Amino acid sequence: MDLLAYWRWDNYLRDLNEGAGFHFNSNQKRLHSEIQIGERLWLVTGKPAQGGIQYILVAKLIVIGKTFNPPEYKYGKYRVWGDIKNSAYFSSDGPDLNELLLTLKFKSGRKIKSKDLIGQSLQTIRVLNPDDANILVEWSKFLSLEPRAYQIIDEELLEKSFEKDENSVKEAITKYHIGPSEKRKSFLKRIFKRNRRHAELLQEKYLGRCQICAFDPIILYGVRACYGHHIVYLSRGGIDELDNLILICPNHHEIIHSTNAVFDFYDLCYLYQNGRREPLVLNLHLKGYIS
Ligand SMILES: [Zn+2]
Ligand SMILES: [Zn+2]
Repeated sequence: MDLLAYWRWDNYLRDLNEGAGFHFNSNQKRLHSEIQIGERLWLVTGKPAQGGIQYILVAKLIVIGKTFNPPEYKYGKYRVWGDIKNSAYFSSDGPDLNELLLTLKFKSGRKIKSKDLIGQSLQTIRVLNPDDANILVEWSKFLSLEPRAYQIIDEELLEKSFEKDENSVKEAITKYHIGPSEKRKSFLKRIFKRNRRHAELLQEKYLGRCQICAFDPIILYGVRACYGHHIVYLSRGGIDELDNLILICPNHHEIIHSTNAVFDFYDLCYLYQNGRREPLVLNLHLKGYIS
């Protein structure tokens, strides 16, 4: 079933500032239990406006993955990932959603009784019935897209610049990473050395082997060939910490990028779009729920 969730205005802005993530976090279990892969998560924010809060539909995520965040992650235990191609971020200057919200019946059949109760009602993620979903589909056809969510550098391009030198990073970010805030852009330009150090640390920790398949280029060929890959992309708000990095071989790296595979901290598995799950065979630095 489609879900409707409330996205706090400050969290929504943070997401745009750091590089639209096309994912959503919550501590509510129904973010996982009430939605299936391929279904839609609709996100509404409450924008501060004259005369009270204005409710706006700001995103539609077509779910391609449901994962757990690292234990103690501050924005919630559960995450859903949207398909970047087919999901959408809408402009927060879009039309007021108040009236429409009051017409939704939800799976429970219980409408929101009045405008004053919208905020409170949306604190719980709501399950939509098929009619509600159609209403939102129609509504979203007339919304304009939020440009900042689309002016994001390709992660592989960013990674390549990090492999080159500090100037390439600066150039790549200035030229292709237009959407995020100036603060985030200057942060990314500053972390070059730290990023190198982290990757080096993983090379030493795992003796250059792939954490997913244990491919060992050093024993086989006498050279390093694995990459430090960011689990949540740096271009999409990922943090520059060791627990957001994983050491993987060129094959896994290629496949993970080309299939938009996502990482599940529950059991430390990579999760592919065809349903395949691959656990880590080497792990000394990532903490999951059942490891
Ligand atoms: Zn591998
Ligand atoms: Zn990568």
